[in-house]
Amino acid sequence: MAEYKDIYQDVYRKRLESRKSVLKEQVLNDPLTGLYNRRGFMLLATKLLNLAQRERFPTSAMMMDIDFFKRINDQYEHEGGDLVLKEISRLLNPEKEDTLVRKSDLIGRWGGEEIVFFLPNTDLDGAQKVAEKIKDQMAKTQVKIHDKEKASFTVSIGVVQIGEKEPLEVLIGRADTAMYQAKAKGRNRVEVFTEGNS
Ligand code: GH3
Ligand code: MG
Ligand code: MG
Repeated sequence: MAEYKDIYQDVYRKRLESRKSVLKEQVLNDPLTGLYNRRGFMLLATKLLNLAQRERFPTSAMMMDIDFFKRINDQYEHEGGDLVLKEISRLLNPEKEDTLVRKSDLIGRWGGEEIVFFLPNTDLDGAQKVAEKIKDQMAKTQVKIHDKEKASFTVSIGVVQIGEKEPLEVLIGRADTAMYQAKAKGRNRVEVFTEGNS
């Protein structure tokens, strides 16, 4: 009898553990894009930021927003818009093979069609290059909508170099400011945050 009890307890424990890990994944990840959600991104980026600031590693952050996404939804319906979001996220997922970013980069879905990046060990020059590469690749990408039409789109990206003391919220706010500058200057652009444009 004791054996049955042990086996039962073991199975029960394993089931509990796997449920816990599924739950953890749901709490930190975004189901549509497979990227971190805002909570997951903030949790991990805060830790990486603490390390970067303590060790004085060059580090950058970026905010990306799809240009005129409402038009994509209007043209291909919400479902088509979702397919575009999925394809963009696949290209930006550090876990995927043909990703445009480094495996050590942290990417999250900040909101609707806004993607946030934390790039450890990347200075401003490096971050700008990554941002330009992403922007150019996005403009070349065509997303098949139900084997018929192909959706094209562009993105605007704001880049910020991480300083020694600022909290993550401030840095993300600066990346956002730079991203809105890119929108104001015509979209399909990369802009770097400087104190003057805040
Ligand atoms: P802008 O160039 O100024 O960014 O123009 P925009 O049309 O992209 O404007 P905005 O960023 O304000 O609008 C974002 C739109 O994205 C509005 C919303 O309907 C759509 N959206 C947000 N989340 C989702 C989603 O999960 N799926 C789809 N299909 N659309 C979404
Ligand atoms: Mg937009
Ligand atoms: Mg937006």
